[in-house]
Amino acid sequence: MASPCLQKLPAVEHLFALTRFELPEIPCSLSFQRHPEYTSITKEANEWAFKCMRRDFSPEEKKCLVQWKVPMFTCLSTPHAPKANMLASAKFAWLTAFLDDPFDDNEVAGGALATSYLNTVLSLCYGTASLAEVPDILAYRACHDLMKDLRSLLKTELFRRTVSTVEGWARSILSDDLTQDYELYRRKNVFILPLIYAMGASFDDEDVESLDYIRAQNAMLDHMWMVNDVFSFPKEFYKKKFNNLPAVLLLTDPSVQTFQDAVNTTCRMIQDKEDEFIYYRDILATNASWNGKKDFLKFLDVLSCAIPANLVFHYASSRYHGMDNPLLGGGTFRGTWILDPKCTIIVSDPKRTLHMPGEYSFYNFLDMGFAPYGDYWKNMRKLCATGTIPSRREKIGPYLLDSARRERWGFLPKRSDQWKRPTGDTVKLRRRCPPPGIPQTRT
Ligand SMILES: [Mg+2]
Repeated sequence: MASPCLQKLPAVEHLFALTRFELPEIPCSLSFQRHPEYTSITKEANEWAFKCMRRDFSPEEKKCLVQWKVPMFTCLSTPHAPKANMLASAKFAWLTAFLDDPFDDNEVAGGALATSYLNTVLSLCYGTASLAEVPDILAYRACHDLMKDLRSLLKTELFRRTVSTVEGWARSILSDDLTQDYELYRRKNVFILPLIYAMGASFDDEDVESLDYIRAQNAMLDHMWMVNDVFSFPKEFYKKKFNNLPAVLLLTDPSVQTFQDAVNTTCRMIQDKEDEFIYYRDILATNASWNGKKDFLKFLDVLSCAIPANLVFHYASSRYHGMDNPLLGGGTFRGTWILDPKCTIIVSDPKRTLHMPGEYSFYNFLDMGFAPYGDYWKNMRKLCATGTIPSRREKIGPYLLDSARRERWGFLPKRSDQWKRPTGDTVKLRRRCPPPGIPQTRT
């Protein structure tokens, strides 16, 4: 019997030859409110990021970075947080991109280079190294500047949690242990929690150490990285990076045979994670209400916005869909995703979006009534006209010959054998003979 690796060879071939896939709808029952100072927070955070990048950007390059909409996640997460906290959180969103990009762009790919890079990041977080002692690169500059702000803005305990989350991310990358579950590997890679801590809602240690909280938090993180894995797949596909869930499922899961199966399975898993999050969040909220923990309830509100804010960000960021893409301002979308190295191309059939029942009840629009107008529809109409209708006429023919019924309906002449023309002369109608084999009902 072939080994599991050999069994998956067709899947590898399929993956490399991929040109398109169907993006299903990703519904979300959680909602968010926009922060009232969305525009100014976004502008300030972007200016900070440009300053850290220390480059003379052309207007076009600036526009491209603005369209990444990096601070969007923060601004959609809570309408109540103080502006200083929201700004720090928006800067942290930029920092995650700055810290991650050297890996994405293979600048610190593995080995001693990665170890030295991550150790320097951690010493800047802990404040044990000054900026003068480290090489002058973007990630170090941004990290040093933001950690200084966070140290004064956050309570000691919360700042400690922030740094330990960054440390967890660095350790998971350093260990590079790909023998563990992909889910666990990705969960550690998404170091989004400091961004939520920086928004200003506080909690006690016991609140975030209960099993129910850890389950809710894991479900939230899983939802976020799974959404990222679907939307960043095309970008990673052209960089020949396959550390995303659809590719992992296709290459490892025996029940997944095509890339479309893998995308559909990922999207189902995303829905399961949302349900799981809501289930544990509701338990936590009920307990917090009983115990009068108002701060923790506020923190749960922020946490609940993270899932929809992340989802909306992935539909709206040029990071995944290319600059000036009309899709960026149009909310959610679904349809055929044509792979292209520069921008996302979605071909969506409006009939599909508007008439979901047509997809499920009429064999994916293969009947004549729901099929899109075109050659297929023309052929179907011809088939119906030459095949279906005569056979129906044969069956209902004798019924139509019933003169009593014809008179009652009033659309046929009352006299079955005569037809009066508008000119006044009478035409004798020929009686149709019923086809052979059909019983004659008329006497
Ligand atoms: Mg990704």
